[in-house]
Amino acid sequence: AVRNPGEKEFHEAVTGVLDSLAPVLEQHPEYRDFAILERIVEPERMIHFRVPWVDDGGVYHVNRGYRVQFNSTLGPIKGGLRFHPTVSASIVKFLGFEQIFKNALTAQQIGGGKGGSDFDPHGRSDNEIMRFCQSFMTGLYRHVGSKVDIPAGDIGVGGREIGYLFGQYKRLVGSFEAGMITGKGLGWGGSLIRTEATGYGLVAFTREMLQTRGEDFEGQTVSVSGSGNVAIYSIEKLLALGAKPVTFSDSSGWVYDAEGVDLELLKEIKDVRRGRVADYVKERPSADLHTDGAVWDVPVDVALPCATQYEIDGDHARTLVKNGVKAVAEGANMPTDAEGIEVFEAADLLYGPGKAANAGGVAVSALEMQQNSARQSWTREDIADRLDSIMQDIHRQCVEASEKYTGRPDDYVVGSNAAGFVRVAEAMLDQGVV
Ligand code: NDP
Repeated sequence: AVRNPGEKEFHEAVTGVLDSLAPVLEQHPEYRDFAILERIVEPERMIHFRVPWVDDGGVYHVNRGYRVQFNSTLGPIKGGLRFHPTVSASIVKFLGFEQIFKNALTAQQIGGGKGGSDFDPHGRSDNEIMRFCQSFMTGLYRHVGSKVDIPAGDIGVGGREIGYLFGQYKRLVGSFEAGMITGKGLGWGGSLIRTEATGYGLVAFTREMLQTRGEDFEGQTVSVSGSGNVAIYSIEKLLALGAKPVTFSDSSGWVYDAEGVDLELLKEIKDVRRGRVADYVKERPSADLHTDGAVWDVPVDVALPCATQYEIDGDHARTLVKNGVKAVAEGANMPTDAEGIEVFEAADLLYGPGKAANAGGVAVSALEMQQNSARQSWTREDIADRLDSIMQDIHRQCVEASEKYTGRPDDYVVGSNAAGFVRVAEAMLDQGVV
C-alpha cells in the first residue's frame, strides 16, 4: 500500500493471491531467497500515454492510455485492452497481475499484462471509435509487437476496435505483422472460436467442476450477468448443454426471462443494433426488466458473473448461498469482492475464480498466434477441441494443486493461484534475478 497508494483493486488482487500462497511458500523456501514475491508484484514496465482525439462535432478530447507489461517470464506479454471510464492504473495493474497466473495455467508460452483507456465508447459513432483507436495505437505502437507484447480485446474492445488498432499499427510500422494483436477478423489472420472462447471455456470449466460432484448442466437454471462477449457465448454454450440461462444485464439494468434467454434476440440487440437490455423485454413477453437488486437475487443452480469487477458483494453471495446455488464460476475478472469470496469459501459450493474459469479467451488467443506464425488457419472443430482440452487441463491443475497444498480437491482459489504461481516462479528461478 505504501509503494502503490490508492490502488485498491491492485492491492486486493495481490492480497488475494499472496494469502493463498502460504502453503506453497512453506514448501519452497527458495522462492523467498530469490525474492520471487517482491519481483512478481512489481511490473516490468508501466506505460502511460496521452490519447488526444476529435469527436464528430469538432470538439477535442484527451484520454489517458495505459499498458502494463507485468511479467514476461513465460513468453511475450499477452493481455487485453479495456476501454471504459473506470479504467485507471490500479485497474490495469490488477488485471495484468491476474493475467500472469491465468496465462501460466493455459500452459501456453505467454507472459502477463493488460492495458486500456478511460475512454467511454458508449454512444460514439464508428468514425469517433476509429479516430480514438488510431490515436491510442499511435501512443502504444512503439511498445508492442509479436515478440514483445500482443494486446487483445476486453470490455469495450471487440472486433471493430481490434481492426482499427491493427490498421493503424500496420500503417505506422509499415509491415503486416499479424501476430502483434489477437481477436482479428477471420479474413486477415483471426482465429475461429476466438470470439466465443471465453464463454465456451467458462462453461467447460464449470462442467468439469460439476462433474466432480456427479452433476452436469442438463436442466440446471443459470444466472448470467453482463451481455457482452463473455455473457453471450456463455449463454450459447449453456443452451447447447441443456441448461436454462434465465438472466443477463448491462449497466442500465438486468433481465429475468422465465422461459430462458432467447439467444438470437439477445445477439441481434447487442451485436447488430448495439442496443440496451431494455430493448429485449419490449420484444419478449416472458422477460422482465429490473433496475433494483441484481441478477444474484434469482434462485439458480449455477451463477456465472460475466460483466465486470466487484459485481458480487457479501450480501449477493449470501443470497446465492441461501437460495442453494451449487456452483459459481467467474467469466469476468474479480467479479466477487473479498467478503463475497469468504462467503463462498465457507459454504459447500464449487467456486471457480476467474483466473482459471475465464482463461479460455487468452488460450485461444495463443492459438491464434500459433496459426499466424505458421501461416495456417485451423478448423472450427480443431480449435474447439483444443479449447476444451485446455480447460480440462486447467481444471486438473487446480484440483491437483488444491490437493497438494490444502489436502482437499475443491479449493479452486488455492489451486489456481498455486498452480499458476509455481509455473512462473520455477521459470523465474531458471532465468536468474532479472
Ligand atoms: P464487453 O464489453 O463485451 O461486455 C461487458 C458487459 O458487462 C456489458 O454488458 C457491460 O454493460 C457490462 N458492464 C461493464 N462494466 C459494467 C459496470 N461497471 N456495471 C454494470 N455492467 C457493466 O466485455 P467482455 O464480455 O469482453 O468482458 C466481460 C468481463 O470478462 C470483464 O471482466 C473482462 O475482463 C472479462 N474477460 C473477458 C475476456 C474476453 O475474451 N473478452 C477474457 C477473460 C475475461 P454496458 O454495455 O452497459 O457497459
